[in-house]
Amino acid sequence: MKSFKKEDIVGKPVIETSGTAKGKVKDVSFDLSGTITLIVEEEDGKESQVPIVRVTGISDDVVVRSEPAPGLSMPAPGDSCKFCGKPIAPSQIWCPSCGRSQT
Ligand SMILES: [Zn+2]
Repeated sequence: MKSFKKEDIVGKPVIETSGTAKGKVKDVSFDLSGTITLIVEEEDGKESQVPIVRVTGISDDVVVRSEPAPGLSMPAPGDSCKFCGKPIAPSQIWCPSCGRSQT
């Protein structure tokens, strides 16, 4: 696993996987639980925070996964029957289609 130093990434352009330039890395922050966040300075001078888990590659620039568009999130696990795949409410214990227990 390649490791990076702060100096390796600060100042690099940040590009989304969609190809959109997001800005450049201004700083790196971390908390005691080990979560590392890039502080990105956007073109208009605003700062945004990009969790390191969204970074897919670091070379001449820092590539980050595009943020999912609001409302397009994947359904949570448990929203479909484990056996027949029909959608069910998360609170339902029995599948209304095939009648099998979801627990
Ligand atoms: Zn079912």
